[in-house]
This record gives sequence, structure tokens and C-alpha cells, in this order.
Amino acid sequence: MEPRAIAILGATGSIGTTTLQVVRAHPTLLRVAGLAAHKRWRDLVGPVREFKVGTIALADPAAAAAARASGEFPAGTRILEGEAGLSEVACLPEVTMVVSAVVGTAGLAPTLAALEARKDVALASKELLVLAGKFVTATARRTGAQLLPVDSEHNAIFQLLRDKPAADIDRLVLTASGGAFRDTPPDRLGAVTLAQALKHPNWDMGPKVTIDSATMANKGLELIEARWLFDLPIDRIDVVVHPQSIIHSMVTLTDGSLQALLSPPSMAYPIQDCLLYPRRLPCPAPRLDLSVALTLSMSPPDPARYPCLGLARAAARTGGTAPAIFNAANEVAVATFVEGRLGFTGIAELVAATLAACPSAEPTSLAEVLAADAAARQAASRLAPGLAR
Ligand code: MG
Repeated sequence: MEPRAIAILGATGSIGTTTLQVVRAHPTLLRVAGLAAHKRWRDLVGPVREFKVGTIALADPAAAAAARASGEFPAGTRILEGEAGLSEVACLPEVTMVVSAVVGTAGLAPTLAALEARKDVALASKELLVLAGKFVTATARRTGAQLLPVDSEHNAIFQLLRDKPAADIDRLVLTASGGAFRDTPPDRLGAVTLAQALKHPNWDMGPKVTIDSATMANKGLELIEARWLFDLPIDRIDVVVHPQSIIHSMVTLTDGSLQALLSPPSMAYPIQDCLLYPRRLPCPAPRLDLSVALTLSMSPPDPARYPCLGLARAAARTGGTAPAIFNAANEVAVATFVEGRLGFTGIAELVAATLAACPSAEPTSLAEVLAADAAARQAASRLAPGLAR
């Protein structure tokens, strides 16, 4: 059998490098046909040589020019640029699966182009479904391309739902680590520092995701993702705090029994599940060691500690552009917190104020979603100084 040819959008980030680690472990089943990144072209030199990649793209044209001029890539390497370059990498004729892991909105159009070209898409970027879930799922349905979730929680549910009729499914339960302030009394959250917010107990992630984990805005975005991926109403999707990050999510069946998926907290597991789907082979990551004591605990999330979770659920119920507004407001709020111009509890306050100031509408195009995103960012930036501590 020919190896499955994949393209990675967001190749220099942590999802991209873990994807390469999985490809390295299964050289007869997987190969890399294309790589794309924002501008860190130097980080692509090694993978291009190791995996004999013919085509790369850099979203930043200046970085593409520097890469071409460097002479560091093998002769004949095609170096494309801009959004069109990312789309071309995603739609290379030999590619059958695209790993979509670009942070922010830059991956939206290339991923839709891939689905349009009937490429299966392993989805890691949250923005795709939160902003454009309606368009992403409709395009996949129309062309027959498959959407495979990379996010650990959604991948767990994707695995649990395999071969189960819809009538057997009652509810989905997303697990959440609870983040850095899981045990901090809610009345002290106003005084926590940036350094404290950046300490995540289980996962090694960038600052934005780590702070989103502390506020549970991250889990709010995942609720919205789950609604699109599994086509269930938002009120049949629950969240439970599970500090150990070993149970990646659960499904409640019609009879009331639950099934859970457990694995160590390594993204190699869900990434490999997508890349090799539907095959199971040994994963290049440590296994769960049950020769030592293991405690798994769960508790309901406290709404006073995690107001962003309730705001995300409300935005999901409203639908239309409300999830995009939630996402944009949260990004501005986190950036403002990181700059020291907003307290930690100000993040949720700014998201709530922005949602109240920006009306939601049913988008008819990606352009309308991006306009709502831009308007929400402006509103949040305008509202932020009024909430400064
Ligand atoms: Mg997740």
C-alpha cells in the first residue's frame, strides 16, 4: 500500500512537530508531501531534508523570500507564500490528509480549500469550528471529505463514538484539567499574577492556551467545537473537572452507563489516531504505567470560578457569530491580561461586556464571520481600559 501523503499547516508549532514525530514512527504508512508555517522558515529546513518534502509555504511573504535566498533548502524545493501558498500546499494532488494546526484565522481559507478538494482534515486549530463550524461541516458533508478531531477531548469522543448508532448516545462529557487556579478560592482570583496563570499542572502549552485553561475559556471553545463535530445540541454536552488529564472525555450512553477513553497526556496519541485512522498501532509516546498507584478524580466546574465557561455556553446557544465574538473578545482579554493592563477576573468581565456590545447575526459567508471577528476585537479593545484594575 502507498503511504498516506499528508500536508501539515502549522508545521513549526507543537502539533506540527508532534505530527512529524508520529510520521517518523510509521515510515511505511505515512509520508509528508507539504509543510506550511507562518514565518519560522529555518525550522522547516530539517523536516524538508529528513522527510524529502517537495513543497512548502510560508504565510509571511518576507519569510518566503528569505527562505528562497538562503540556499538552505534542497534544489527543487518549491517555496510558496501567502494564503494562496498555504491553500496550494493543502490541495497538492498527492495529499490525502491535511493536518490543520495554524493558530488564528490564517488557516481558515486553506482548510476550507482542502475540504473543497475532498482532502480529509485532521483538525487541531480551534478557530476553524468556533468561527466557521457551519461552513466547515457543510463543505465536508458536500464533498465527502472526513473531519478528524486532533484536540484530545474531541479525539477521545471520536474514538468512543465509532460504530455506535446515534440512538445509543445520550450525552457527551468533556473533561477539563481545571487549570492553574483549580484550588484557588474564587474571591482571591482577582489578585493572581501572570506568572501564576502560566503554570499549568499537566500540559506543556503556549501562554494563550495555558491562560485559557485557567479561565476555562478553552473548554468553552471546545464545547462549541464538539457541538459542530458531533452534531449534538450544546445542552447535551457537559464539562467535568478532572485534574489528572488521563480521562480525555466520556460518552454517556442511553442506558446511563458511561464509556471513557484513557491515555497519558501526550498529543502523540490523538494525532496518531487521526493520521492512521482507522488503524491502531503502537504510539511513539510513553504508556500509562499502572504498576504505580493512580488516582482519578472528578468534580463539577464551579461557575463562580470559571465564568468564561458559562459565557461560551450562552454564545453557543445564541449561535450565529456569537461564538466568533466570544473567541475574539477572549483573545483581546488574554493579551490585555498578559500586558498587565487587566486583572485575571477582568478577562471574563471583558468577554461578557463585548458579547453584550456586539449583536450576533447568522453569517452567510466566511467574510461576514471575519468582519464580526474584527468588530468584536475593536469593541473589546475599546472596552478594556474601563475594566483595568
Ligand atoms: Mg483540548
